[in-house]
Amino acid sequence: MKDDIVIAKTAGFCMGVRRAVEIALDEANIKNKGSEIFTFGPLIHNPQVLKLLEDKKIQCIEEIPEKGKGTIIIRAHGIPPQSKKKLEQAGFEVVDATCPRVIKVQAIIKKHSAEGYDVIIAGDHDHAEVIGLLGYAGEKGHVINSIEEFENLPAYEKAIVVAQTTQNTKFYKDLEKTISEKFPDYKFFNTICDSTEKRQEEIKEISKDVDAVVVVGGKTSGNTKRLKEVASQEGKTAFHIENESELDMNFIAAQKKIGITAGASTPNWVISQVYKEIKTARLKKEKSALLCCFIVLKFLFRSNILLAAGAGALTTAAAVLLDIPLEFPTVLTASLYIFSIHTINNLTLIDSDRFNDPQKANMYEKYKFPLSFAAVFAGFLCIAMSFSLGILPFIAVIIMTIAGLCYKLPIVNIPKITNGFEPLSRIKGSKALLIAGAWGMLCTILPIFSANDFSFSKIPGILVVFIFCASMAFFRTIWFDILAIQGNKIAGEITIPILYGEKRTSDLIKYLILSMIFLLFISSFTGIISNFGYLLMIYPAISLIFILINTKKEIQPGFFDDLITESFFLTAGILALIWKIFS
Ligand code: SF4
Repeated sequence: MKDDIVIAKTAGFCMGVRRAVEIALDEANIKNKGSEIFTFGPLIHNPQVLKLLEDKKIQCIEEIPEKGKGTIIIRAHGIPPQSKKKLEQAGFEVVDATCPRVIKVQAIIKKHSAEGYDVIIAGDHDHAEVIGLLGYAGEKGHVINSIEEFENLPAYEKAIVVAQTTQNTKFYKDLEKTISEKFPDYKFFNTICDSTEKRQEEIKEISKDVDAVVVVGGKTSGNTKRLKEVASQEGKTAFHIENESELDMNFIAAQKKIGITAGASTPNWVISQVYKEIKTARLKKEKSALLCCFIVLKFLFRSNILLAAGAGALTTAAAVLLDIPLEFPTVLTASLYIFSIHTINNLTLIDSDRFNDPQKANMYEKYKFPLSFAAVFAGFLCIAMSFSLGILPFIAVIIMTIAGLCYKLPIVNIPKITNGFEPLSRIKGSKALLIAGAWGMLCTILPIFSANDFSFSKIPGILVVFIFCASMAFFRTIWFDILAIQGNKIAGEITIPILYGEKRTSDLIKYLILSMIFLLFISSFTGIISNFGYLLMIYPAISLIFILINTKKEIQPGFFDDLITESFFLTAGILALIWKIFS
C-alpha cells in the first residue's frame, strides 16, 4: 500500500544542531558528570530538547555573572566575541558548540570589517545568530529584514552583504538583485546554509504534491517558521506545530495526502511521534480492517511476543542447519527465555524509550506490574521446561539466566576498562554483544542438548550455526540502536552506534550480513551444515536489501520498518518449515 504521508528526507536535526546537542550530552553523560554545566542562552530552538537538557541538569543562563564556575556551552547559533571573552574572564570553562557554518560567516564578517567594509546582514533583528554576527562587525554592522529596510540604509563606500544561515532563499536572492542593481560594487556572500536551502527546496517540491503540510519545530525557530512560509507560498494549508497534540486531527485525517517536514532543531523522536499519530488518525477515520491489524501488530511488537516467536523460529532454523531432531518444547523454551529477558530489559529502558518510542514507554510504565509478572512467570516456565528437556538444557538455561540477571551487578573488574568493580552493563557497547551471545547459545546449544545429539564431529557445524544466530541477533540489536541513537544519547546509554557513529555501524551491519550469506554458502558447500544453508541465505539477503534501502533515508519514522526488522527471524523459521515439508 502506497503511503499517503510523505516525510521530507531533510526533516530533523541538521549537522550544526546535532553537533551542539551531542557536545552538551557528552559533557553531561561522560566528560563532566557531576559538575555544573550551563548553556549561554538556549542551546537550540526546540522546547523538547531544552526540557531534556534541563532534566540532565544543564542550566540555561541569559546574563553573564561576575564570577562563575563549571562548564558553559556556547549555543549552535554562536555569540558575539565580546561575550565569549567575558565568560572566560568570569571563570567558566567555555566549550564552543557554535555551528562550523556559522563560524564561517563570523570569519567573513571579521575579515571584511577589519578591512573597513560595512556589513549588511540579511536576517531577523533579534535572532541569536544575528546578534552574534553583529558582534564581529562592531560599529559597521547593519541588519535588514526587508527590501524597505535596505532602502533606509545610507550608501556605503564599500560593503559586504551576508545572510543569516537560515534565511529564506527567495528573499535573499530578491534582496541581492535589488542591492546589486543599485550598488554593483558591494560584495555578496550567500551564506545561507545548504541544509536550510535543501530543506526549503524539498518542502517546496513536496507541497506541490500534497493537500496539507505539517511543519514540526519550535515556535521560536526561524528556519521552521520559514518552512511553513515556503509551503504556504505554494498555496497549501500549512501547520506549524511543536508536537502532535497541537494538530487538528479531524482536518488532517480528512486530507488525501499529507507532507511532513521539520526544522533543523527538531529531534527525530518528535517527528516520528507526529507521523505515528497522523497515521493512526487516518486509519481510524477509514475504520479499515487495517486498523485492527495495526493495533494487533503493534501489541505483538511492543510486548516482545513477536520477538519471542522469532527466537523460536531461529531455533528451528538452527536445528535444521545442524540436521538434528527438534521438539516443540525446545522451541517454546527458547521463546520463553527471550520473552522474559527482553521484557525485563524493556522495563529497565523506559527512560530512553520515552524519547525513541513514547507510546511504548507509556505502555511499560502503565502496565509495569503485569509485564513484570509476565516476564518472571515466563522465566520460571522456561526453567521448568528446560528441566523437562534434560539436565544439560536445564544447566544451559540456568547459566544464561544467571548471566542475564548479573548484567546489572558490579561483578566485573577489567583494568583500563572499568573503574574497579562495575556492572557488565557499564562496559560501553556490551549490550549488543551480550544479547548476540545469548541468542547464539540459546538457538544452537539448546536444540543440541535437548536432542542429546552432541558429538565432536559436530563442533564445526555448531560453531557456524552459533556465529550465524549470534550475528543475526547482533544485527537486530545494533540496527534498533541506530534508529534510537538520539534517545539513547539523551538517556546516557552508550551503544555501539554512539561509540562508532551511525555510518560506520550501518557499514558494519552490511558487511556482517554479507559475511553471513557467504558463511552459509561455504558451510553448506563443504558439508559442515545441511543443504538448508543454501535456502536460508534468503534470510540474510532480504535483511541486507532492507538495510540498503533504509540507510538511504535520513529519518526512520515508521512502525512498519520496526515491524519488518522484528519479523526477519520469522523468515528463518518459515524457510525451515518449507525445507522440512519439501525435503
Ligand atoms: S542550519 Fe546550517 S548553519 Fe544552522 S546550525 Fe544547522 S548546519 Fe549550522
